[in-house]
Amino acid sequence: MQTITIIPQVGIPDHLIGEVKSKLAYVDEAIIKAQIDESGREIKLELRHPMEETSLKHLEEKVQQVVSTMTQGAIQPKIQVLEDNMAVLTPYCNDPTEELIQQCELHGETAGVFTLGPMLTRLIEFFEENFITLAASFEAKPYRFPTLIPARYLERVNYFRAFPHSLTFATHLREDLDAIDHFAQHAACDESGHLNQPPESFAKIQTLLSPAVCYHLYFSLADKPLPGGKMVATAVGNCFRYEAINLTSLERLWNFTMREIIFIGDKDFVLENREISRQRMARAFKDIGLAYRVETANDPFFIGEFRKQAAFQSAFQLKYEIRARLPFKESTLAVGSYNYHQDFFGRHLNITLPDGSPVHTGCTAFGLERMAYAFLCQYGTDFKQWPDVVREYVYG
Ligand code: 5GP
Ligand code: ZN
Repeated sequence: MQTITIIPQVGIPDHLIGEVKSKLAYVDEAIIKAQIDESGREIKLELRHPMEETSLKHLEEKVQQVVSTMTQGAIQPKIQVLEDNMAVLTPYCNDPTEELIQQCELHGETAGVFTLGPMLTRLIEFFEENFITLAASFEAKPYRFPTLIPARYLERVNYFRAFPHSLTFATHLREDLDAIDHFAQHAACDESGHLNQPPESFAKIQTLLSPAVCYHLYFSLADKPLPGGKMVATAVGNCFRYEAINLTSLERLWNFTMREIIFIGDKDFVLENREISRQRMARAFKDIGLAYRVETANDPFFIGEFRKQAAFQSAFQLKYEIRARLPFKESTLAVGSYNYHQDFFGRHLNITLPDGSPVHTGCTAFGLERMAYAFLCQYGTDFKQWPDVVREYVYG
């Protein structure tokens, strides 16, 4: 192992320290830990193995490039807080992860991939019931979507440009008897769990694991007028976002589940319903006793796209995040979001309103594992400490 310190040519402003740090995970496979000090003037990287001087120089150049691309000319977004319930008193202030592992409620399969036990499953069902009630209040139509998504779908909505770092690809063996025979005879994993098979054995990539739920609905409506000019739908699905060394416990998963309520129609229809869903959830979160706030936010765009896209999202208030309090580290975690995509999907996928103009879309999205995790960070794993509504649902 080797630790190196890099002094960025441009200081990293306070509000970008978290975003830049998360992107350092993708700079080089050798990086196993990245830290930025509070002043934004020093980056410390832990490397998997010592590196030669030329490789180190190249790594440093890549780090400098990330910092300058993300920070130069960046304007600090004005964060608007729409709800602040951070002061709700909650009884617990540890990280429940270790306890959950000991209680066989949480079992890590590989980085960012977990199985959940009966209590966590019931707790997620409790939150699901709240989200399904919200969906029913809009008479949302239920849908089921696949876990795989065609590459050409993501290409058509510019996903490759915006979030290349978090993509997960699906492939299979080529239809070739020699390749399949070779695999059957020799496939094995090394001690890090990597398959020992050559890339030539695998077919070209046509599909990925889906990074979001609502895209599937927009594609099913593509290239035609939207019947009736408006719709509300709901679905739950597996989502995949590869987060390299940022994958930690239930806080950040590679494979997680998301419940979405999706609004499609004209601008007012989408914005009004996004607002109504926020207000209805505010009441539900109050009953549950969650400490959280809702504030304007941006998506984690990749380095080159970050500055412009994030500023655009903030300026037009396209994303509100529900950030639950994590008392053990005095920070917050996004457990859900209220999103407005303007006519982005309507334009790119040619979905039209009765007057021929593109539809507007929006979605309310909840990360189910994060919801349960944030709740347990606030209330602990001892159900005697839980709010009645939750305890009664989970334990009867
Ligand atoms: P968004 O579409 O706003 O990025 O994601 C919607 C919700 O999905 C987030 O608010 C969060 O609850 C959940 N989510 C997004 N990324 C992750 C992740 O890496 N891990 C987990 N556990 N949940 C995530
Ligand atoms: Zn969505």
